[in-house]
Amino acid sequence: MRGARLQLFFTEGTFFAASCHSYFLSYQMQYTRRNFTKRVGLLTLGGLSGVSLLNANTNYTVRNGDTLGHIAQRHGVTTGALRSANNLSGDLIRVGQKLQIPSDASLATDVVPSDNIYVVQSGDTLGAIALAHGIRVGDLKRANNLSSDVIRIGQKLQIPAIVSSEDLLQRVRVETARINVRTNNWKRIVVHHSAIRYGNAAIYDRAHRQRGMQNGLAYHFVIGNGIDSGDGEIEVGPRWKKQLLGGHVKSYGINLTAIGICLVGNFQESHPTRRQLDAFTQLMDWLRGEVIPEAKQFAGHRDLRGEQTICPGKNFPLAAMHARYD
Ligand SMILES: [Zn+2]
Repeated sequence: MRGARLQLFFTEGTFFAASCHSYFLSYQMQYTRRNFTKRVGLLTLGGLSGVSLLNANTNYTVRNGDTLGHIAQRHGVTTGALRSANNLSGDLIRVGQKLQIPSDASLATDVVPSDNIYVVQSGDTLGAIALAHGIRVGDLKRANNLSSDVIRIGQKLQIPAIVSSEDLLQRVRVETARINVRTNNWKRIVVHHSAIRYGNAAIYDRAHRQRGMQNGLAYHFVIGNGIDSGDGEIEVGPRWKKQLLGGHVKSYGINLTAIGICLVGNFQESHPTRRQLDAFTQLMDWLRGEVIPEAKQFAGHRDLRGEQTICPGKNFPLAAMHARYD
């Protein structure tokens, strides 16, 4: 029985990883076919409304097809911030409803000095450096007392640590308090992107089950981008709740002892949001500091030998995360 069980897990793990990205492509096609018309409609509306990051509270009138998540993402705020600015208890909105968009300042982050120094290379811009480190240009300028965007090759820039005063771990803590964590089992944490803009834990869980993974969602945690779950929202998967092995890498041996964290998005094409990175570092700090201190190794999916993947995408600040967690 034990052999059969292992074989089952092995097949599951192998299947997933062998088709990690091709799988997501076919999933994306399937998903896209179903939702194409709806999405195009939404994107058009988003384009027409022409919003950007705003510095003061503004009003927004809900249009046909809007969801709270979409509105929040388009304005660079969280669904939570949007809810509290409008005294909403749920996600229900109606066409024509006027919403207050809270100012970006209300996101409340602090720039903290760090030892992380970056030397400006040929072709760099302040914006690209900020994006690569998951921080805002304004924060980068503040940390280096820059009054303009002009930088020169060889210049040393301090990459500030961004400390969010918002606790994104609340739900994870509650869920984790209910279970017995197999503290000594977990040796490693692997970060992934989902390779698709859309989706959340439930959607990926369904897709992974349809593809024969009987434990469902291959990752232990999924961090939303504000589209199908909140921006920076950490969803706890069934494999964490049941303390099951992952299905997120090709190697069965690694799956046995590796926690998988997936950020929703295709980071070959776009960047993780600042709140996704905030959530990721909060989750990492907490897991390694308090929950599974033995999980000392940190890897991006593509760091693992034999995985043959670009995951978590070129725009995930993997080097910066290695600097923080190695
Ligand atoms: Zn991956």
